[in-house]
Formats: sequence, C-alpha cells, structure tokens
Amino acid sequence: MTSTATPSDIISAIKAVVADAPRPVHLHEPYFAGNEAAYVTSCIDDGWVSSVGAFVDRFERDLASYCGAKYAAVMVNGTCAIHAALETLGIGEGDEVLIPSLTFVATANAVVHAGATPHFVEAETTSLGMDPVALQNYLHRIAAKENGKAVNKLTGRTIAALMPVHIFGHPCQVAALQHIAQEWNLHFLEDATEALGSTVGGSRVGSTHTAMFSFNGNKIITTGGGGAVTTNDEQFYRRLKHRTTTAKQPHAWAFGHDEVAFNYRMPNLNAALGCAQLEQLPRLLLAKRALAARYRAAFENIAGAHILPEPSGTTSNYWLVTLMTHGLDLESLLQQLHDEKLLCRPIWQPLHTLPMYAHHPRSDLAVTEQLARSIINLPSSVRLGLPYV
Ligand SMILES: *Cc1c(COP(=O)(O)O)cnc(C)c1O
Repeated sequence: MTSTATPSDIISAIKAVVADAPRPVHLHEPYFAGNEAAYVTSCIDDGWVSSVGAFVDRFERDLASYCGAKYAAVMVNGTCAIHAALETLGIGEGDEVLIPSLTFVATANAVVHAGATPHFVEAETTSLGMDPVALQNYLHRIAAKENGKAVNKLTGRTIAALMPVHIFGHPCQVAALQHIAQEWNLHFLEDATEALGSTVGGSRVGSTHTAMFSFNGNKIITTGGGGAVTTNDEQFYRRLKHRTTTAKQPHAWAFGHDEVAFNYRMPNLNAALGCAQLEQLPRLLLAKRALAARYRAAFENIAGAHILPEPSGTTSNYWLVTLMTHGLDLESLLQQLHDEKLLCRPIWQPLHTLPMYAHHPRSDLAVTEQLARSIINLPSSVRLGLPYV
C-alpha cells in the first residue's frame, strides 16, 4: 500500500472497535465494578473520612505489595507526590532536574514547586520516553563533573536528578537511563503516574526505583484525586512520610512538630476507593490489553497509521492507546473525530513550547516536536475493552 490513511479510514477503524458504545465516546472513563461503594460507605458510616483511617494504611500496604516495593506513601495527588519526593531528596534552589519535554505539565510544575529548574531532554520513538543515547551525548557536551556533582556548564547549576516518564503506560528505557544517572551521580526517580501495572523485565514499575503514581480520575485506577510514592529506601520513606504529614511527632494528644512540612495526606475516603480499585486492577489491565489488540488489528491494513506497540522487554498497562500517524493534519483529523463524537486527544504540547517553560534549558528536541505532530490517543476506557476479554 502506498497511499496514506485518510481521516475517514481512521474514523472507520475506531468505529469498528468501539462499536455501539454510547456516544460521545470519552477518552478515558473510570470504572467501578467491585467494592468501591461498599468501602466508601463504610467510611461514612464509621466517621473516618479524613486524613487518618484504616483504608489509608491498607492502601499503602496493598499498593506497595502490588508494585513489589517495600514502602508506599499515599498523597493527595500525583503532582504533590513528585514534589514531595524531589523535596525529600533535598533537590531545590540551584538544581536542575532532567525531564522530558514530551510529558504532562505536572512533571515540570512539580520540579518548580521544589524550587529547582526543569531541564528538557529529547524523546525516542519506540516508547515516547527519554532517549538515553541522545541524553548521554548531550550531557557529554554540556555538563562537567565537579566534586562528584554534574554541573551544567551553560547555566552553572547542578544537574541533580534524572526523572523519566513512562508515557501512556509504555515503560521507557529504564536500564540505560539509570546507567546514565549512575555515571553522572544523579538522583534517579520515575514519574510513573501513568504506568501502574506496567512491567520492565518482568518487574512491576515502582518495584526497583523510587516511583511516583497518580490516581486522578482519568488514570488507570482512581481515588478521585490521589497519588503515591513507592520506594525501597527505608530512610527516604520515613523522611517522606514525616514531611508530608505535617512533621508531627507521634503522641496521643500533644502537638509536637519538628519542622516546616506539608499536609499532603490522602483522606481515608479516597483511600477506600483506592483499595477497591486496586482489587479490580488485574481485570482492568486485561480489558485494556484486549482493547489495544483490537485497535491494532483494526489499523493493521491502514497505511501510514499504526498503534504504538509496547517496547520489547516490557508490558504496558495501555493506559491510553496511542495512534502514530504520518502526513496528516491532526487539527482537522481531531475535528472530524469530535464531530463523530469520538473524543480523541492529541498528545500534550511539548513543555518547552509553553510560555512559562519557553526559556528553560533544553537539548535539541526535534524528535519531540515531530512526535507531537504525529500522535493521537484513542478512546481507551476499560468498558470498551471488556467485551473483548
Ligand atoms: C497525571 C500525571 C501527573 C500528575 O498527577 P495528578 O494526580 O494529576 O497531580 C504527573 N505526570 C504525568 C506524566 C501525569 O500523567
């Protein structure tokens, strides 16, 4: 086949998969089919609705155990989880944090909340995550090691951390990136807000490095709003927990606090929802995998458009199914999809093109910009995949 897909080819392929789902077909809807109502109701019945309660402790245990991490600290949202993790590592004023430009704006905002500077680096086309080869070449050009620290020769600031993102649930090249972090003595932590349930080399994301998750309403499971940090580092965990729970010294009645800290605690109501959603996660993952397979088949014979497969050696949670297009005007395609009540979305505007991040340090971002012109996300709700499980 030589001609490229037309918008109507793409619309027909999507319609074949979503079939008679009610219109509009949203991008991603939450799915509650288990103990959600029962657990939330029990909080209301017994009065434990706020920042202390049995579901908070249980959600932390269940999440750590699911991910294969020693510890999990749950918080009010994913942005605060990233902020708290950076802040607890001591990253702040005078530091730069390497993050992709091709990510949701919260990744960069959390870096700024910590007082540090987001430094944008290039993406690669198999995972949409950070390109380790481009990153290594770039660091050798712009950075130097001084007293064991990586210093940006152009800004004079310390490059303190490397924080890749698993875009749409597809794990990025973690091993190669971690290797770079070791070489340059950078903290390594994963923005895994989109990747709960994804695996790398057979291990769940969140099991090997400090990772941050989000349970916003559009993520694979939701607590209404919520986030978490998983880690295997006990000291880091204790400090993180302390700093995100008002630095209160445990005591039955006294208000002893030993530093200026945050109130980032997840309420018990939200944790109750989280416990029930986590019970459902294995089934949700099956539905999303089946949905992605149906989309892949539907696009198999359409030239110039394909579903992005999970990178080899990984499994994706297929949070959002990603269509790679070539040579299409995405604005007009998205308009036609919305006219058909198929509420597809483009990928985010690369962060270095947003006004508040336009003058931040960055590498060459040609691949990022090309990807931003090629990608749309297809309706990916669990409900759409269930008929295919
Ligand atoms: C959702 C998301 C966040 C932030 O999570 P919230 O819970 O919405 O604060 C951060 N980074 C990425 C890549 C996300 O997709």
